[in-house]
Amino acid sequence: MNQSAQHGLPLDPLPGDMRGMAEVVTEYLVQFFCSLAERPVNGLPAKREAARRLRATPSEQGRDFASLFGEVREAIEHSYEYCSPGYLAYIPGGGLFTSALADFLAQGVNRYVGVSALSPAMVQIEENVLRWMASLFDFPAGARGILTTGGSLANFSAVATARHARLGEDFEDGTFYTTDQVHACVTKSARLAGLPHRAARMVPTDREWRMDVGALRDMVRADRAAGRRPFLVVASAGTTNTGAVDPLAGIGQVAVEEGLWLHVDAAYGGFFQLTARGRQRLAGIERADSITLDPHKGLFLPYGLGALLVRDGRALRAAHHEAADYLQDLGVAEELPHYNEYSPELSRDARGLRVWMPLVLHGVAAFRAALDEKLDLTDVLDAALREDARLELPWRPQLTVVPFRLAGGDDDANRRFLERINAARRIFCSSTLLDGRFTLRACLVVHRTHRDLIDAAIEIIRAAARE
Ligand SMILES: *Cc1c(COP(=O)(O)O)cnc(C)c1O
Repeated sequence: MNQSAQHGLPLDPLPGDMRGMAEVVTEYLVQFFCSLAERPVNGLPAKREAARRLRATPSEQGRDFASLFGEVREAIEHSYEYCSPGYLAYIPGGGLFTSALADFLAQGVNRYVGVSALSPAMVQIEENVLRWMASLFDFPAGARGILTTGGSLANFSAVATARHARLGEDFEDGTFYTTDQVHACVTKSARLAGLPHRAARMVPTDREWRMDVGALRDMVRADRAAGRRPFLVVASAGTTNTGAVDPLAGIGQVAVEEGLWLHVDAAYGGFFQLTARGRQRLAGIERADSITLDPHKGLFLPYGLGALLVRDGRALRAAHHEAADYLQDLGVAEELPHYNEYSPELSRDARGLRVWMPLVLHGVAAFRAALDEKLDLTDVLDAALREDARLELPWRPQLTVVPFRLAGGDDDANRRFLERINAARRIFCSSTLLDGRFTLRACLVVHRTHRDLIDAAIEIIRAAARE
């Protein structure tokens, strides 16, 4: 090998180079976090052009860090600023420095947590996180959980587990129940879990987009009488559209009576359980057989983190475990689980630390207070918009989504209304269809969103409604 032809950074850089690069990144991140409130919420314009400029293939000989970092920076700045206090679109995620730091460390030492034998103490840290989450919902000691990359994969494992536990190998005639407000990843999960399209039963909702419990019972009984096998009901604890919370206690009752697995998709709403109001609104969730959570929403962590909790940990394992001869040296998991037996994944990142480090450093109370503040601010925003006769707010927020539209305005008028709101570049809202009508929504989840921002948002929305 001709060494002189090689100019790139060695695969293991020299100590000074490691430090130098890490310092540049650290300094950039510090500036980033400190400037979030001032950064335009929709980022720099010409995002597609920036993307095109960055088209490239890696060279044989490598390049210097500074020029690469300049490009990465450009990519970052040409993005919507989901971490900004004014980002009220979809379900935002805040991002935490302490979580990024945990990832840097965990990826740096490259610890393996797919099985518990290689790095049991790192697995213990992940277990601490999962046990803490399970305790929020009063799940019993036999409960087990997994950290996934997001709510979608948590829902997938939940549906696969329910199918395996309740239907066994032959599940062609199985049926499950949810509403048309459920997140699309739930029906997608069912498809990926091998269930035919006809297995999905859409239960009607009430005026506030919550599942009609009586209709659920009737549909289950009718299906059973017709020879089908109802096995699962998926309730939402905070829908993405309107933040609606299905009547969990009533649904839980039907689930018990009818022998259905109750899965609660709490990807958006679940961590409001940390607050007194949230506990009230999610009452009944503790009866679930499984719960999906998204720490990258309700705990403000960076993207790439969902969680699934399952009341009967044996059911989760039964659905996912597959013996492998090449893993025989690892032994039987006793105190600590081999996560690969509970999830579709084997090798993966040590994602427990990115939750544990923020929880321990900031304390649980910091998360509770931030979520409580979002509930307060939702009331402030809802009340102020309600006062404006030009606006129509057909539903009271059940968590932190405020749906609104121009009173008497058609879809086009509301689409332009949304454009005017976002044109100010201080806040960013999104839209959805409700009863087939274009409806705007503001969703408050970013922990950096405080009263000053909401006051500004009220001004912006009212001014846009006047135009
Ligand atoms: C975000 C969300 C999901 C999907 O989770 P991802 O983390 O985006 O995969 C599922 N259900 C609800 C209610 C959500 O808000």
